[in-house]
Amino acid sequence: MVYTDPYTPNENKRTYECRACGHRETTSTSIGFCPKCHGAVLNIGVTRE
Ligand SMILES: [Zn+2]
Repeated sequence: MVYTDPYTPNENKRTYECRACGHRETTSTSIGFCPKCHGAVLNIGVTRE
């Protein structure tokens, strides 16, 4: 289920993928590690929905 709030800009959101467990995290802030396993994450780009 995807709900897009037209009043919430999302141009600053980035998706990070954990290189250890494959978890993906989409966030507007920079993260340096996976929230699940604390492994290294890779910035895989800006999310546009
Ligand atoms: Zn992880």
